[in-house]
Amino acid sequence: MLILKFGGTSVGNATNIKKVANIVNAYQEPKIVVLSAVSGTTNSLVNINNLLAEHKKEAATLLINELEYTYHTLIDGLFTSEYYQLKALTFIRNNFDYVRSLANNGIENEKIILAQGEIISTNLFQIYQTQLGCESKLISALDFMSIDEHGEPNIDHIKKQLNPILNREKNHKTYITQGYICKNNIGAIDNLKRGGSDYTASLIGAAIEASEIQIWTDIDGMHNNDPRYVKDTFSIDEITFDEAAELAYFGAKILHPQSIIPAQLNNIPVLLKNTFNPNDKGTLIKNCANSKGVRAIAAKDGIIAIKIKSYRMLMAYGFLKNIFEVFEKYQTAIDMITTSEIAVSLTIDDTTHLKQITEELQIFGSVEVDKQMSIICLAGSFSQSGKGISASVINCLKDIPIRMISYGGSNYNMSLLVATNDKINALNLLNKGLFVQKQLQEV
Ligand code: ASP
Ligand code: MG
Repeated sequence: MLILKFGGTSVGNATNIKKVANIVNAYQEPKIVVLSAVSGTTNSLVNINNLLAEHKKEAATLLINELEYTYHTLIDGLFTSEYYQLKALTFIRNNFDYVRSLANNGIENEKIILAQGEIISTNLFQIYQTQLGCESKLISALDFMSIDEHGEPNIDHIKKQLNPILNREKNHKTYITQGYICKNNIGAIDNLKRGGSDYTASLIGAAIEASEIQIWTDIDGMHNNDPRYVKDTFSIDEITFDEAAELAYFGAKILHPQSIIPAQLNNIPVLLKNTFNPNDKGTLIKNCANSKGVRAIAAKDGIIAIKIKSYRMLMAYGFLKNIFEVFEKYQTAIDMITTSEIAVSLTIDDTTHLKQITEELQIFGSVEVDKQMSIICLAGSFSQSGKGISASVINCLKDIPIRMISYGGSNYNMSLLVATNDKINALNLLNKGLFVQKQLQEV
């Protein structure tokens, strides 16, 4: 069985939904289609809840009506048959009447309101499939997707609930279900947090031991470098889960790494594809991918470097612990760290408590802060082919001042800290030295 998950833009309007149906119906094998809400809908539902929380019921109702109206345009563009158009309109009408009635109870029904986005997109898609004459079965995620008292999904539990449904509803080629929404430990409607539909796909994939999980979005998979700053980037054919996780922090926004853990643990490949360019191969994430040295480069701005220098650090123990405790106290995550015998440099990206942190660190030594820095992350498999990688990286950047280097934390990552002003230059030099020249050599 395949899992095909489509994000908000993929189901964002009538034209796009038609593309999704083409992709889905081209697969002969059985599949579960997981849909996000139409893009913008969850945001509107959040806004509606916010207004309800502020007791602005009239403004909330106005927003509900506006949102309902956007579905009329979508339905107009999607349905050619009057019969199915009416069916879709009736569904929308009933659904929004329900939301309006929930709104009467103030904020009490927040989670139920949030769940409507995915309920709407899946129902409309199913009606559209019927208009096309393509048989499909809508199964409600609320009947099998669940979280425990800590808000964590439990795969065994999901398995126990989902498998009987699929056994009862045998022999359908296409099952359709909602991403994001679930029931919680007390049986109330809840969700897997914003962006949670990828997580749903991965959890279902793990629960039914799917052959592959496909995540369809609006870009051609992961790129080897940031296409906003570098001209000759290309999408990566394959990448390991570990490498993908290293890149995720650096704006490789395509997927949240946590959301693919169930797939990784169950060894199910995840294929990232573009709904708007389905012929592109996309990127395959799996446990073991062809090892190729540096696989991809990504960068993150807004980084602050803090250096603490102290002769008391020399041959002393407990020094780092004291320093880390300051960051822990202010709940500020440290990203990169490098040490020498008399100093330690580390980076943060959350400046909320920078002032307090630097003040407290002064107890331990002199403190220097560098702002407007960028981390450049190189992800790849450096264990077998690590030889020479650091030399080539440093060689590429020989004219760029490097503030920090971190290598060896894992076999999959090398991080460099440079001034943000040098970032674009650095990304291009690395691209040229590590990818373009390599390709030329391979030709
Ligand atoms: N609709 C939800 C959101 O916008 C979940 C998702 O799209 O993944 O956050
Ligand atoms: Mg999304």
